Amino acid sequence: MSQSFYAGGAHIAVAPGTPSLSVVNPATERPLGTIPDCAAAEIDTAVGAAQSALLGAWGRSSGDERASAMERFANAMLERSNEIAVAVSQQNGMPLALSAAANAISAAASLQYYAGLARTVPPAEVRPALSFAGNIVVRRQPLGVVATIVPWNYPQGLAFMKIAPALAAGCAIVLKPSPETSLDTGLIADAAEEAGLPPGVLNIVTGGRETGSYLVTHPGVHKVAFTGSTAAGRVIAAQCGQALKPVTLELGGKSAALVLDDADMEATLGGLGFLSFANAGQSCFLNSRIIVARSRYEEMVDGLITLARSFVLGDPTDEATTMGPLITAAQRERVEGYVRGALADGASIATGGRRPQHLERGWFYEPTVAIDVDNRSTLAQEEVFGPVVAVIAADNDDDAVAMANDSEFGLGGTVWSTDRDRADSVARQVKTGTIGVNMWTLDPAAPFGGHKASGLGKELGPEGLDEYVNLTSLFLPTG
Ligand code: NAD
Repeated sequence: MSQSFYAGGAHIAVAPGTPSLSVVNPATERPLGTIPDCAAAEIDTAVGAAQSALLGAWGRSSGDERASAMERFANAMLERSNEIAVAVSQQNGMPLALSAAANAISAAASLQYYAGLARTVPPAEVRPALSFAGNIVVRRQPLGVVATIVPWNYPQGLAFMKIAPALAAGCAIVLKPSPETSLDTGLIADAAEEAGLPPGVLNIVTGGRETGSYLVTHPGVHKVAFTGSTAAGRVIAAQCGQALKPVTLELGGKSAALVLDDADMEATLGGLGFLSFANAGQSCFLNSRIIVARSRYEEMVDGLITLARSFVLGDPTDEATTMGPLITAAQRERVEGYVRGALADGASIATGGRRPQHLERGWFYEPTVAIDVDNRSTLAQEEVFGPVVAVIAADNDDDAVAMANDSEFGLGGTVWSTDRDRADSVARQVKTGTIGVNMWTLDPAAPFGGHKASGLGKELGPEGLDEYVNLTSLFLPTG
């Protein structure tokens, strides 16, 4: 996609003088390529192409027709799965196996799930009227042009959690990826073309915050679907509020793993290997607070030290690597600042807390276990976005729930216990969007989205489709 953007089914050269942004491999610190920092001219063209697509055949398409296009799109993404996995790994440092699962494969799963709903959810429902003799036809209409803005940590999986329901609803899309992970979006455009998606249904503009902001406030955009930081989410919510534009926001998290006194420690540590450290801790759902029954505290800390030391840090495209680097030098410095702050607040570092000695290049940071952490301290309250877990002792289940809920955020979480009923009861008391007993995952059928500062609205599930639909009531009197 270098020095061009994708609109109306074509790669179009950007306006003369458009600045470039360089994309850097965080494992090697070497440049991978450049992307244009698109501005008004490119965004106007992309939004215009989306509007034209809605006036054409796509705007009149049936759910079955859209579902067939989406199924072809899913297959085209799967055909490119390996290429996409490598392209994303090189840009964001995600280990290859995770990159495969969380990008093309996840994208295809979202497309297939919402293709199923496009086929089966009726476009209209007829209800008998209560105030007059006749019927009301409640029609589900597409919201229109959707701006999709995503971060770099799970770039394609997150993008398709928006693109798939938007396509199923009959919307057209302008995608703005994160500047750190934009080079792989050329493969998305190729897949859309191979699938025969009509020109203008999916458009892609690259760039940074200004590009995103222009797109959000564009009068031709009817809905904004955003995943990213809570700080940016607040700005976008205010802009959408001003324009009375529907918006969904998937934001930050500081989720808790509640480890009860009867937990199976081996199984708990097995689960937390992914849930507390995935993608070098750069995951919104991260269980970055481990709230453990005081009677199991020492055992938990010992297990976490062994777990943290078991990760193999290195080149993310090497299949032996289980943890890659942080996304930028600035992000690593931010993580280091949190660790310094934790020490100043009275916590101790049981393992990690430094850059790995054996890797000379790349923004790597050792998996870190901070112990004796106060739940009110900065480390326990703010999203670090790095491989740093805070271990906190709880006196009993009520204490654990109170600490889990004493947070600005509410996105994910887990409860670990060998007593299912007890774990179920504890899980129901945690104020969060999704929570799992002895496991956690994303499931296409489960609405995903945060409470409190973790977001607004839902993705996935039938509820995720409703976010792209306008309901219109048509009154049809009899006679
Ligand atoms: P970020 O908010 O800085 O950027 C995300 C995207 O928004 C990028 O494409 C960026 O260019 C764009 N952007 C930034 N400011 C904008 C603005 N004012 N207007 C329009 N666009 C703007 O976030 P990041 O650092 O790239 O990603 C990490 C954050 O994303 C973390 O807080 C993480 O928790 C969150 N996240 C949330 C979820 C979720 O589902 N809840 C999933 C993944 C990541």
